[in-house]
Amino acid sequence: MSIQTINPFNNKVVKSFEEMTPAVINAAIAQAENTFETWRKRPFSGKAEILHRVAQIMRERSDQLSALITLEMGKLYVQSEGEIALSADIIDYYATNGEKFLADEKLNPEYGEAYIKKSPIGVLLGVEPWNFPFYQVARFAAPNIMIGNVVLVKHASNVPQCAQAIEDIFLEAGAPKGLYTNLFISGGNVSAYISDERIKGVSLTGSELAGVSLAAAAGKALKKSVLELGGSDAFIVLEDADIDQAVAWAVIGRMNNTGQCCVAAKRFIVVDAVADEFLTKFKAKLTGLKVGDPMDSDTQLGPLSSEGAAVQLADQVQRSVDAGAKLILGGKRIDRAGAFIEATILTDIKPGMAAYHEELFGPVASFYRVKDEAEAIKLANDSPFGLGGSVFTADKKRGEDVAALIDTGMVFINHPTWTQPDLPFGGTKRSGYGRELSRLGVEEFVNKKLIRFS
Ligand code: NDP
Repeated sequence: MSIQTINPFNNKVVKSFEEMTPAVINAAIAQAENTFETWRKRPFSGKAEILHRVAQIMRERSDQLSALITLEMGKLYVQSEGEIALSADIIDYYATNGEKFLADEKLNPEYGEAYIKKSPIGVLLGVEPWNFPFYQVARFAAPNIMIGNVVLVKHASNVPQCAQAIEDIFLEAGAPKGLYTNLFISGGNVSAYISDERIKGVSLTGSELAGVSLAAAAGKALKKSVLELGGSDAFIVLEDADIDQAVAWAVIGRMNNTGQCCVAAKRFIVVDAVADEFLTKFKAKLTGLKVGDPMDSDTQLGPLSSEGAAVQLADQVQRSVDAGAKLILGGKRIDRAGAFIEATILTDIKPGMAAYHEELFGPVASFYRVKDEAEAIKLANDSPFGLGGSVFTADKKRGEDVAALIDTGMVFINHPTWTQPDLPFGGTKRSGYGRELSRLGVEEFVNKKLIRFS
């Protein structure tokens, strides 16, 4: 049975779910298709009413939903609360602003008159990851539902109770059946449904491997896909940066969600003049974090999302060390039950090592010392990934100049890469393509129809 709640704090199985049969999934797609025909015609105010109610229920039930996140994937409870608040904010933002994103766009052609009319395309399939079980779904579902599409969501198999809770909230908020449908399918079985012609577009947040498989199936069926995959974001610190501020953000950028963020700061690239100071202070902050139950408010380092994730990360660290990287902090599994791994800093990382090329999805920081700004940019770009990144400098213009040369979808200056409801999110290279959130995200799954009259 692959769809299960397993508490990563103690690796105990809490609850198991049956995978849906093809007949059940087929009926769900049919229901979604029917609902689309009425939902697309519902006035924006009617759509917004339901989304606002969804956001309200999430806020009212924050304690219960946050505990569910923590139970299923081990996030520190206080961060789970933050995730629920952010998800509700995203849903409210698109309920309030969705209509304006769909407004007609007047063109000024040389001949005749014309405009672009934007309309929804139909049933979408979202494949979502466990690392932010509510936020990832909110940023896919809320904009699309507001513009008139309907969604099927295949959530990660280790967060089934979160997955079911979201569908239940939509129904409780008055959503018609088929507007938001949770599908219990395991990852390996998803591609088979992508060729179904009733599904008009697919969106995935997850690993490269899943991205390759889903994009291939979507390409074969000639349908649009949006992919938000992994990242190995550079965190560049220049010699004029406020080092204490940079270190404080480095800790948050690397350790938020126990390091399991696609846009976590993963490669700390620091110019020689301030490298020793940065590393000493960074190490001091990561040393002695209080390890414990993620439900406890004084715990600073909780478990990873699963035993498998901890085994994989420990293996990546070990392979890097075997190839010559140095551990200046941590590096081992923590000797207790659960999916724990020490806060870790690796140095002396060279091309060819796992830490140089692979995404480290957990509390492991890769530290690089570089000669100057030019070398920092070169190293930042020497990655298969292109998701986010950050630059720390006292000079805003210099930060912008460096940002312009970094080959990623997002760069933040004097802040780790982050997310907010009204800013686009997405990457380049092997981090995927397309955007979620903002006007760019809204427009991924709309038909931009030209209307021209003489
Ligand atoms: P996966 O990519 O396996 O899981 C993400 C989602 O994709 C899940 O819903 C999963 O379903 C589904 N999935 C898995 N395989 C396929 C497939 N062949 N076709 C369609 N959907 C599929 O991530 P993991 O949980 O294995 O995490 C591994 C790595 O992925 C991490 O170490 C990290 O590098 C990256 N990742 C990145 C995330 C991000 O935010 N960008 C989020 C999560 C992971 P199921 O659970 O049933 O397998």
